[in-house]
Amino acid sequence: MRQNTEEYRGVFTFAQQVDGKLSSISLELIGKGKDLAADLNTEVTAVLLGSDVKGLVDELAEHGADKVIVVDDAKLKEYRTEPYTQALSAVINEFKPEIFIIGATAIGRDLGPRVSARVGTGLTADCTQLDIGDYPLVAVAGREQKHNQLLMTRPAFGGNTIATIACPENRPQMATVRPGVMQKKERVAGAKAEVIDFDAKLEENSKYVEILEIVKNAKTTEDIMAAKILVSGGRGVGSAENFKILKDLADALNATVSCSRAVVDAGWMPKDMQVGQTGKTVRPHLYFAIGISGAIQHLAGMEEGDIIIAINKDETAPIFSVADYGIVGDLNKIVPALTEKIKAELA
Ligand code: FAD
Repeated sequence: MRQNTEEYRGVFTFAQQVDGKLSSISLELIGKGKDLAADLNTEVTAVLLGSDVKGLVDELAEHGADKVIVVDDAKLKEYRTEPYTQALSAVINEFKPEIFIIGATAIGRDLGPRVSARVGTGLTADCTQLDIGDYPLVAVAGREQKHNQLLMTRPAFGGNTIATIACPENRPQMATVRPGVMQKKERVAGAKAEVIDFDAKLEENSKYVEILEIVKNAKTTEDIMAAKILVSGGRGVGSAENFKILKDLADALNATVSCSRAVVDAGWMPKDMQVGQTGKTVRPHLYFAIGISGAIQHLAGMEEGDIIIAINKDETAPIFSVADYGIVGDLNKIVPALTEKIKAELA
């Protein structure tokens, strides 16, 4: 389907909320949206779907949204694929955004592809970087080079390569974005956005799922994405029991323990604690990588940390190439000694 791409304007972000609380990714998307909008000389519009959610508008504005489109409908109270797809597709068909970005959360991964198919465009999933630029990246004889395209970058082939993808013929250019990768803007208290109430004319139909009961997952683990200090262990820790020495270090620093995928695969730690491409992206002030080799898929989730300290017995381990401080030696000796020293200093 060939579109008149010129009709489409503005950067739109999906303002995901669950139980009337905005997800952190909603504010991260506005932060990135501001940068993209500045390059395109346009505005950022957050799209908020839900029931009785108007109270969230100010939080979106204070994080940088210029406009907020609100679809407030009782049918959108809990996330359900069909009404959310209908509502978001209706917003796109009415307002014609040039770019639409959605969090690569469980909700966003379900919603994004369906909406993109319904409005007849493409979607790049799980992006880690978004830029405005030319497509093709370099001019090729006999091929039109389009300017101001959304260049969507994501790991491909199991993280062995990085692909940059564009969507030059269709609008909106859609992407889902990994939580924790983009930066929120500083909150500006009292900032206001233009609010547009939109009636998506939702009608119950046979595709609507009926929710009989919601059973919340009991939260057994800490949120490693919110932690300021992470003490992360890899296969080199040796066993689930030996994670005790990392826990002692974490307790001394008021930190959280996380891990590599090898540790999850071995059944030593739950998946929620995994850092990396198929785990979580973290950005702590301080990241200890202990007995972690530094595979590219692990680095993808932690290299943006402010200070990285690596402890590994192999001085050629790739983790040392991203570490600010490196200690070569046996973690079984170094970690307890470090814990004692820190406890003594903080006592
Ligand atoms: P290893 O690579 O086995 O490293 C153990 C390290 O411990 C070594 O460097 C060793 O020198 C050191 N060591 C051993 N004993 C000691 C000791 N006593 N003292 C000090 N150091 C010691 N991995 C992730 O972490 N996160 C992901 O999200 C992820 N996603 C992936 C997605 C795909 C598609 C694929 C193919 C792989 C993915 N991986 C991921 C796996 C990744 O490639 C590595 O296999 C994994 O990160 C290795 O974990 P590790 O560093 O703990 O173990």
